[in-house]
Amino acid sequence: MSNRKLLSEKGFSRRYVLAAAAAAALLPTGLRAATPLNVVATTGMIADTVREIGGDAVEVRALMGPGVDPHAYRQTRTDILAMSRADLIVANGLFLEAQMEDVLGDFAARTAVLAAAEAVPESALFGHEDYAGKFDPHVWMDPELWDVVAQAIRDALIEVRPEAAPGFTSRAAAFTDRLRALDAYSAEVLGSVAEPSRVLVTAHDAFAYFGSAYGWEVMGIQGISTESEAGLQRISELVDMLVERGIGAVFVESSVSDRNIRALIEGAAAQGHEVRIGGELYSDAMGAPGTYEGTFIGMIDHNVTTIAAALGGSAPERGMAGLLGHGS
Ligand SMILES: [Zn+2]
Repeated sequence: MSNRKLLSEKGFSRRYVLAAAAAAALLPTGLRAATPLNVVATTGMIADTVREIGGDAVEVRALMGPGVDPHAYRQTRTDILAMSRADLIVANGLFLEAQMEDVLGDFAARTAVLAAAEAVPESALFGHEDYAGKFDPHVWMDPELWDVVAQAIRDALIEVRPEAAPGFTSRAAAFTDRLRALDAYSAEVLGSVAEPSRVLVTAHDAFAYFGSAYGWEVMGIQGISTESEAGLQRISELVDMLVERGIGAVFVESSVSDRNIRALIEGAAAQGHEVRIGGELYSDAMGAPGTYEGTFIGMIDHNVTTIAAALGGSAPERGMAGLLGHGS
């Protein structure tokens, strides 16, 4: 199945199409094989996945670095220049890059643009009461869904550079194996938390797919997008819930202000219930480049290990592969 077909079958979004690789076709075959594909990715999670699958055959640039909120991010002039030189642009899609919709749509008219998360079947996507007509874009929180995204990236790379297909295919298969191992580790450490404590309270609603994958209740102060305002009523509801259910830890996110999380902790304290910050999670952005947490696998490993440890479960201090906390 071609990517074009995959994307055009989506009922929800037809904003982006993977155009034919016109630019690549202009070069003689020998030169094409020698020059790495120039890929621009929006988020770090997408960029890392392209690197995993593309290997030496790609050069990848992420527009959004650590701590950057994709819901609010606007492209810079440098970003526009990078996109105008790209052989392939890979976005998350599903309206994650809300402020970049227009520019991505413009580029789709002349460059290959893939909205990778839109490869996830609609039946597997969630809506949200405060997010009418749109799907929850945070599909990277479930390794099984991210594997669907990885396969769409593999197919797009093959379409743009068919002669490198064997490498893309074998690296994608290896990445699938690592995602499966990550999923198994996540299920194990999260399952070590006592059932009543399997509640994840965070700054915004980025963890619905995580909750669904591992059977956790998830609650965000803000909605799906950080652009929504958190009402005082929402904060007071969550404070009551923390007190009633005796929940001892809530989590800050690296790409979202901790102001609302601190309001929760103060609200609970005013009712005589102590709540701690269980740690900082990577919700919509990864850790620093060059660290394990700055990779997709490391980001999720950090999250599940931090969550399990903070809520009374047992998790290895340095995570799935003993790599957490080195060099960061
Ligand atoms: Zn988000």
